[in-house]
Amino acid sequence: MTTAPARPAHDTTPAPGPAPAAGPPYTPPYRSYVYAYPHKTAYRELPDRPPLRELWEGEAQHALSLYLHIPFCEVRCGFCNLFTRIGGPDGLTTAYLDALDRQAGAVRAALDEGARFALAAFGGGTPTYLSAAELERLCDIAEHRMGADLRAVPLSVEASPATATADRLAVLAERGTTRLSLGVQSFVDAEARSAVRPQKRAEVEAALGRIRDAGFPVLNIDLIYGIDGQTEASWLHSLDAALAWQPEELYLYPLYVRPLTGLARRGEAESPLQWDARRLALYRAGCDHLLAHGYQQVSMRMFRRAAAPQAGMSEYACQTDGMVGLGCGARSYTSRLHYSFDYAVDATEVRRIIDDYVATETFDRAVVGRAMTPAEARRRHLVQSLLQAEGLALSDYRARFGSTPAEDFPAELAAFAARGWLVDGTDAALRLSPEGLAHSDAVGPMLFSPEVRALMAEYEAK
Ligand code: SF4
Repeated sequence: MTTAPARPAHDTTPAPGPAPAAGPPYTPPYRSYVYAYPHKTAYRELPDRPPLRELWEGEAQHALSLYLHIPFCEVRCGFCNLFTRIGGPDGLTTAYLDALDRQAGAVRAALDEGARFALAAFGGGTPTYLSAAELERLCDIAEHRMGADLRAVPLSVEASPATATADRLAVLAERGTTRLSLGVQSFVDAEARSAVRPQKRAEVEAALGRIRDAGFPVLNIDLIYGIDGQTEASWLHSLDAALAWQPEELYLYPLYVRPLTGLARRGEAESPLQWDARRLALYRAGCDHLLAHGYQQVSMRMFRRAAAPQAGMSEYACQTDGMVGLGCGARSYTSRLHYSFDYAVDATEVRRIIDDYVATETFDRAVVGRAMTPAEARRRHLVQSLLQAEGLALSDYRARFGSTPAEDFPAELAAFAARGWLVDGTDAALRLSPEGLAHSDAVGPMLFSPEVRALMAEYEAK
């Protein structure tokens, strides 16, 4: 693959403004984080509400992923557009677990008897918003209702500092959690406040101590760059504070300001171009710092300590294997349909959807979703592989689709090459250059199909 000359990988000078007329136009580096394709805003109501039994019939079920979604948090962070609400009053968490149990029963009945889970995760929201007893029940649902052997497969759980209490961590460790991910965002109190994530560093340090004491094989720490007032020095200060705990993994997230979130009214202290440049500079400084401290880059966001154990090997391959999501914000993937429930960010709408979910008695049909056509499956495979540092294995792609990405996506790949975002040809893999990885949040959206783009554009945020 040809590449145009790129800026040095971790050049910390501000990103260029609009490119000269001859080159490709300036591409904003932070369009959206593509953690799944297509995005839920491209899902629509399924008029025929297909029965789950039909959807899962004939699907490979030997290495499924299981995801349980807990849509409760103690606070609503200003940057967050995940499907979650503040608090769970009046027995709502119990009612939610009751509904989760009913849904698990219906989904399990739709799977083959021999279905096996190779990977599990509890996400949110904040799963540790649940009490220790409720977390036991959550694990029971995964194990006894769904048949996942949590102690035998990698199990990842997300937590916040205030809810990572010793009793909850003890339950999670005992039930087989291999990876505990803590949302810290910044070790500087003023930055945490600025990101509408009010927490004190002392609270964070105490939570990290409890997590290390609980003995999870993998600790992940999430940090954010691009916060108002954050400088390179304060960013490196946060990174060093995290490194003091020798986390096996670190996720570095660029700050986004999204509709209907607490930061949506962010001031105009710097122009969009200046903010892009500052985030890129902080990203590069963060990468250099972690690489110098023995970490390897797995993707734009993810870094793994070179000598660290992984959360556990799994047969699950995100490009091809199915996912079973339980809970009202979770998605499920078969080879032909991605489906979920309604989606919202606004607090009132989120509450309505959760209330509808807990009132639901039967969960044996898919409600909202998007068909996965053969063409979309190719795009999904490309998106999910190319955004990883190791790139897309051309032999896997050919074995699955009988073609190459260059044959299927010539225009998209030419656009990336013109920007210097691809590594010059190896026969084995299609990979992003360091500059391409830095622009992952532009690369992903540029791979969306016109149909998905149109659906997302039509979607009205609620
Ligand atoms: S970032 Fe995490 S803790 Fe904060 S509101 Fe979103 S899900 Fe909850």
